[in-house]
Amino acid sequence: MTTKTLIEVKGLEKHFGQGTVRALNGVDAEIRQGEKLVVIGPSGSGKSTFLRCLNRLEEPTGGHIFFDGVDITSKDCDINQMRRRMGMVFQQFNLFPHKTIMHITLAPVHHKLMSKKEAEARAAELLKRVGLLEKANAYPSQLSGGQKQRIAIVRALAMNPEVMLFDEPTSALDPEMVGAVLQVMKDLAAEGMTMVVVTHEMGFAREVSDRVMFMDDGRIIEEGTPQQIFSNPQNQRTKDFLSKLL
Ligand code: ADP
Ligand code: MG
Repeated sequence: MTTKTLIEVKGLEKHFGQGTVRALNGVDAEIRQGEKLVVIGPSGSGKSTFLRCLNRLEEPTGGHIFFDGVDITSKDCDINQMRRRMGMVFQQFNLFPHKTIMHITLAPVHHKLMSKKEAEARAAELLKRVGLLEKANAYPSQLSGGQKQRIAIVRALAMNPEVMLFDEPTSALDPEMVGAVLQVMKDLAAEGMTMVVVTHEMGFAREVSDRVMFMDDGRIIEEGTPQQIFSNPQNQRTKDFLSKLL
């Protein structure tokens, strides 16, 4: 991890339905380059909204987000250009059903960032890395859930992002598929990728994260090293949440 702040979140708010649902209630966070941040918290606590605001899949209703020093919540920010620098992986893989795996991983060509030849070479390298090169010409329907999720990770990595955002990437998978997906994420972490991961996989959090953030009611209730949060939580809500989980 470097000392450079990659993402800075200040007073982030997201209200839905004219303010009746307060999904985020003033979140302040800093994510350093190379840092692995795990976000935990009960269902409805604002974890997905937080992640989706980071690349403005959700428009914040208040506060600011700076990515590499640029205020991406400002009106004159070219959000599409900034989004390319952030890869996102969802619980549901969202792979285009009518495209082959190779085609799915060629996003850099569609964005005119690489020639087809370069992008194919890079895609092949990434597919090999996740153990799915032999699936290059298959369609998503021919893959298992765990394989689809590994492809979704490859698709995001193909753009050479500076940060990867994961929203419960293993929650929709059969248990026997979880390990291979977590392994890909661990490899990515070991390579130095900056990662923000919403997950209930506490083993992953303990092993991989530099910092764990516990959210409830659209706020960060407590944060610390995995050791601090899991072995010595301070806030009663953190304690209650963890005791239900373990
Ligand atoms: P989590 O990911 O922690 O389960 P979410 O960020 O999905 O929580 O949701 C936080 C709160 O915002 C919840 O009360 C949820 O119902 C609400 N919410 C999320 N998305 C929307 C939406 N598009 N419209 C209305 N309410 C939403
Ligand atoms: Mg969620």
